[in-house]
Amino acid sequence: MEKLLNFIDGSYVEPISGDYIDNFEPATGKVYSLIANSDERDVELAVKAAEKAFPIWSSMSIEERSAIMVRLSEGIQNRMDEFVAAESRDNGKPLTLAAHVDIPRAVSNFHFFATAITHFASESHYMEGLGVNYTMRKPIGIVGCISPWNLPLYLFSWKIAPALAAGNCVVAKPSEVTPYTAYLLGKVAKEAGMPDGVLNILHGLGGSVGDAIVKHPKIKAISFTGGTKTGEYIARTAAPMFKKLSLELGGKNPNIIFADCDFDDMLSTTLRSSFANQGQICLCGSRIFVERPIYDKFKEAFVAKVAKTTVSNPTDPKAILGAVVSKPHMEKVLSYVELAKEEGGTVLTGGERVLLEGEYKDGYYLRPTVIEGLAYDCRTNQEEIFGPVVTITPFDTEEEVLMMANSTQYGLAATLWTSDLKRAHRMADKIQSGIVWINSWLVRDLRTPFGGVKASGVGREGGWEALRFFTEPKNVFVKY
Ligand code: NAD
Repeated sequence: MEKLLNFIDGSYVEPISGDYIDNFEPATGKVYSLIANSDERDVELAVKAAEKAFPIWSSMSIEERSAIMVRLSEGIQNRMDEFVAAESRDNGKPLTLAAHVDIPRAVSNFHFFATAITHFASESHYMEGLGVNYTMRKPIGIVGCISPWNLPLYLFSWKIAPALAAGNCVVAKPSEVTPYTAYLLGKVAKEAGMPDGVLNILHGLGGSVGDAIVKHPKIKAISFTGGTKTGEYIARTAAPMFKKLSLELGGKNPNIIFADCDFDDMLSTTLRSSFANQGQICLCGSRIFVERPIYDKFKEAFVAKVAKTTVSNPTDPKAILGAVVSKPHMEKVLSYVELAKEEGGTVLTGGERVLLEGEYKDGYYLRPTVIEGLAYDCRTNQEEIFGPVVTITPFDTEEEVLMMANSTQYGLAATLWTSDLKRAHRMADKIQSGIVWINSWLVRDLRTPFGGVKASGVGREGGWEALRFFTEPKNVFVKY
């Protein structure tokens, strides 16, 4: 069976432990490859390689670094079919989604930061009659990048690209649930001419290799995307070591629909914002609030569309939803449906596993689920489910819906549907979240700040924010 090896110092190597973990294919429920089970010894090797590479990479001209990263981006583009197939197989997402979203986005992440760095400038502050301050922005050194399973290469590259562009060397770990495309990235980086040791990719469990990355004293910054509980642990571990931290964590996003919205546009977008990637996007709107005059109309139209949504094996071109990522995750999502029923909710459609036939009979498929009749503050409406499950709740006033929308510990993204311009701005101002989409969803401009407030995280990714995170400012004052 294929072994997914670590990529350290420009070569694929076995983990020092010699151990491997099973890699499951969500579409079939079968093990299809083995993942290096790395630990702190492998992290030590990666750090040594990165230390050696740092003087070379950080002193290269920006144009040279940029050219290598552009070639890396093109290398993924040239292998589009291989990457798309690997992402879909590893994660369970429809091939069409990997082909239209995940892999093109990884290509643009590398391209965006390869070119952004050539425009990145630092500040200077003139003091009349006294002198001038100028601020240098230097790479930090060795940085750790840890990513989750839902958008594997997309989120992995969203961290690695700015870290590398800014001149850092990277020790990175993809999720052990979806390691395959990160595994493929090593050879593309090598072919692009990236010097050995600049990008090191380690595989294995969060509690061992992830933890060792966070604890390593020579890794000076950690960029993490994943669950809030893991983020809390990482913050507790890294803070006393004074590491720079960027934490992109969980969400429980509101989707607020006013009666004056463009109903058809709202309906088709809400279908996507609820269930794209089987509801496993941190930006999906899982709590849908609908203004009472259109609540019944919305409910009827939405439930009818959701009930007709095709759940199929990821290679089926008709698949709107594929498999969820793992058996434990499928069980967790189903347990929330049971909880919703205990809390007094009514399942309007879905709520169960879909059993396909033949080689897909043991795959992890769930019917998209809509639940109504729950209190805004019950557990189902407060805790992150991260699957194809949404709740719908009517509201009467702006104040009431704001109170419900802001009632969770999270604050990542919010969606608003209204044609009243003043209301849109008023609501956007008051919603507690890092991102607000008005009459749209998931429109991404890579220059904008990305991240959440409250338990959804600390810090921002994207554009200059990411390049500032991955550099250390040093101010120099010169007296006249
Ligand atoms: P997770 O926290 O379980 O794992 C994320 C990564 O952290 C994995 O690579 C894992 O191996 C590693 N990890 C686990 N324990 C660790 C430890 N002790 N030390 C270091 N690393 C450790 O999250 P997940 O289940 O992979 O992903 C789903 C979560 O990610 C959801 O909560 C979702 O909302 C969140 N997410 C957030 C964003 C965002 O931008 N805010 C984007 C995508 C996903």
